[in-house]
Amino acid sequence: MKILLAAVNAKYIHSNLAVYSLKAYAEKSLAQSDCGGLNVKPDITIAEYTINQQEDEILRDIFQGKPDILCLSCYIWNLTCVENIVREIHKVLPDTHIWLGGPEVSYDARAVLGRLPEVDGIMMGEGEKTFLELVRFYCGGTESLAQIKGIAWRERSAGKEERIRENPWREVMDLSEIPFVYEDMEGFEHKIIYYESSRGCPFSCSYCLSSVDKCLRFRDLELVKRELQFFIDQRVPQVKFVDRTFNCRHDHAMTVWRYIQEHDNGITNFHFEISADLLREEELELMRQMRPGLIQLEIGVQSTNPQTIREIRRTMKFEEVGRIVKRINSFGNIHQHLDLIAGLPYENYDSFKASFDDVYKLEPEQLQLGFLKVLKGSYMEERKEDYGLVYKGRPLYEVLYTKWLSY
Ligand code: SF4
Repeated sequence: MKILLAAVNAKYIHSNLAVYSLKAYAEKSLAQSDCGGLNVKPDITIAEYTINQQEDEILRDIFQGKPDILCLSCYIWNLTCVENIVREIHKVLPDTHIWLGGPEVSYDARAVLGRLPEVDGIMMGEGEKTFLELVRFYCGGTESLAQIKGIAWRERSAGKEERIRENPWREVMDLSEIPFVYEDMEGFEHKIIYYESSRGCPFSCSYCLSSVDKCLRFRDLELVKRELQFFIDQRVPQVKFVDRTFNCRHDHAMTVWRYIQEHDNGITNFHFEISADLLREEELELMRQMRPGLIQLEIGVQSTNPQTIREIRRTMKFEEVGRIVKRINSFGNIHQHLDLIAGLPYENYDSFKASFDDVYKLEPEQLQLGFLKVLKGSYMEERKEDYGLVYKGRPLYEVLYTKWLSY
């Protein structure tokens, strides 16, 4: 049974951690049971493409592999491309079962199945266990899709009208159960390495899908240290932590930062998304001693308008963020990247200018200005009428105007 996990990344240098994680988890679990109960052996492969590639090139590549099952990972930046692939690939591989997963389809599964009749089902939420069960299903080990948690699927039975069914969501898993995906570095030589030491976010920002799943989990720190040592030994140029708020647990962050400081190879750079106002003196003192370029920090400010911050349910004390960013700046060894979002509730042109000035004054190495994206399933989307939010109808769903800010 040929199963292809395909990812369409934004850039060639990116890699898709999700598909590697699904493959590693399924293969490890199947090996432990010696593929017990399966009628056919699964052959799981990965293909990575980019949105800048010609769609025909991607179609040809998938077609040549002739997978029995094709699973595609969906994000806001690739959904249009994935939908085009799905529509066309079904014409040339009509017997291939097509499954989608990822944040861009998880909270909107019925609508996606409604508009893409080529798709058999959607994996909703985290995918490792769900994918494993799908593999078992297609290889004869599970009797019915109705038994698999975390999927929405198209039920087709002879003589009956087709219907879309949605099974209950799955309980979240222990992050330490996922195998390390980089044992074999072949193919990652010129890529950014993405690494996950925690999943979920304790905060509730209204525009963000990470706030929907409140189950914050951490990978065992002994495992994390071993895996970081692997990257250090391999002298990889950059490791980006995908943890949503890396420093939300002080002892976890401190252990990782201390480890990379003590085992620095003089080359590898580690990137973290953090909440600056959660940093403590102990962490700042450690950062002060780091090699220039050992770590870089991405810090979401989004707005400095207190009414906006309250309304988007963001937990941030800007005075504290400002104090800490300036302090880190004074060390002269850490690149800071600060984010702002235009188009948030209560943010008019003048208050946005004030937000911009406030952040600019902090002199970060990089200031990223993005436009609000109204994501399906987010609380922001629920409040769109109240905010007079008008946004693009296709991904990236960027705001066009609001009650407070004209187009
Ligand atoms: S802190 Fe970041 S990841 Fe967490 S809910 Fe807010 S925007 Fe999302």
